[in-house]
Amino acid sequence: MSAYGIVLAAIFVAAAAAFVTLLFLSAPYGRFVRGGWGVALSSRWAWFIMEFPAAASIFVVAISGDHGDPIAVFFLVIWEIHYLYRSLLYPAAMRDPRTRTMPVALIAMAIVYNCANGYVNGYHLFHRAVAYTSEWLADPRFAIGMLLFVAGFAAHVWSDRILQRLRAPGEHEYRIPYGGLFRYVSSPNYLGETVQWIGFAVATWSLAGLSFAVFTVANLLPRALATHRWYKRTFPDYPEDRAAVIPRIL
Ligand code: NDP
Repeated sequence: MSAYGIVLAAIFVAAAAAFVTLLFLSAPYGRFVRGGWGVALSSRWAWFIMEFPAAASIFVVAISGDHGDPIAVFFLVIWEIHYLYRSLLYPAAMRDPRTRTMPVALIAMAIVYNCANGYVNGYHLFHRAVAYTSEWLADPRFAIGMLLFVAGFAAHVWSDRILQRLRAPGEHEYRIPYGGLFRYVSSPNYLGETVQWIGFAVATWSLAGLSFAVFTVANLLPRALATHRWYKRTFPDYPEDRAAVIPRIL
């Protein structure tokens, strides 16, 4: 099996293991932070250090590729837009970055995953024989995938902003978020992120894109369920008609 195949298979296995583990044990950051995880870094630095490798790794794989067709470059650009948001703009907008921390062990796991994810997606787009021709632009999979990608990106950025504005600079207590997609679910940021990467998988119609969508579900679905239970436990006046992550369903 090629290195690409091995890394891809490892991501699917890791996603299954992460899903089962995270159903019982929430990753120790944010509202689920707890002791016993060793040295920790400030959240602002943590988000930069763990997310930037996804932007860098795909770029390195892309420039060492053997073809650079415009549609593959387009997929690279939308990937980089997401990761420049996540590694630079999102942490810069945090209101209490010094008081919130993330364990180095968790950051290290995220770096490994992000490098692997950047590698398989970059390899699919720039090294494999499947070049996207201009006909792909007229394919319904491209149109549907891009619609989901843009809608998901807008939903999670919008929801991130609502959450970050719940606190004044320096504050660190939690409040009930209202407005936007919080009318329907407790974690529209996770819903948006998941829809976005499902869209990427559909638009690229690739196993690499699918591995990212599956990993995102494995990571964020258990956390969305735990977050919903946490809100209901913490706030007696929490809106009863709000679902966890899929409006009216879950
Ligand atoms: P959270 O919703 O837990 O937190 C987002 C930010 O809002 C944090 O700064 C948090 O502070 C703050 N916040 C959250 N809820 C409240 C509240 N009720 N009152 C006040 N402040 C609040 O999101 P994550 O940190 O887990 O994730 C951040 C982004 O990264 C999301 O958009 C998510 O989709 C994405 N992500 C993607 C993953 C993937 O696999 N693709 C994996 C993980 C995240 P505090 O830190 O103090 O809790």
